[in-house]
Amino acid sequence: MKFIFDFDDVLFNNTRLFKEHMYLCLEKAGVSRSKAEEYYKTVRENQLNGIWLKKLLAHFSLKDDLYEKILGKSKDFINKELLLLIKKIGKENCYIVTHGYEEWQRDKIKRVCIEPFFSEIVVVQGTKNEAVEKICAKHKDEEVVFIDDKAKHFENLDFKKCSNLKTILFDDEGLGKLKAILSSE
Ligand SMILES: [Mg+2]
Repeated sequence: MKFIFDFDDVLFNNTRLFKEHMYLCLEKAGVSRSKAEEYYKTVRENQLNGIWLKKLLAHFSLKDDLYEKILGKSKDFINKELLLLIKKIGKENCYIVTHGYEEWQRDKIKRVCIEPFFSEIVVVQGTKNEAVEKICAKHKDEEVVFIDDKAKHFENLDFKKCSNLKTILFDDEGLGKLKAILSSE
């Protein structure tokens, strides 16, 4: 069985922990949360590629070293319980398909030091469909489980072409659902 993991809010506690930490650091540097959130929202709405912290720092004329300061804490925000499972599942069975600004996503992934546990890490700007379907085709004789916290990434997947594909919505029950699949193997 192969597993495709999303990064933000699956492997990495982005919304609940990392972003809070980021806003706090920005606040200390003089950028209020409402201003930072407003900027974040504008970028989100106008750019398919999403936010990149370096752009945000430049926008607010903040020093570059804040980038390292904010990212330096990333390791604290990894989903430790999930990472333990991944170590057991094994590198050869695990993939990451993440959506966002490539350099930003790769920088976060690098900082949390999880690269060694995945056989491939793909960053996409648009839909995840192509990357997921490619992994399914590569392992057509095995089941492929795609885990994401956003149901929109499951829409328009070609389940006819990928008859080996299963999805898990990574909500509050996400870890439990994954454990159930693993124990049924
Ligand atoms: Mg996500």
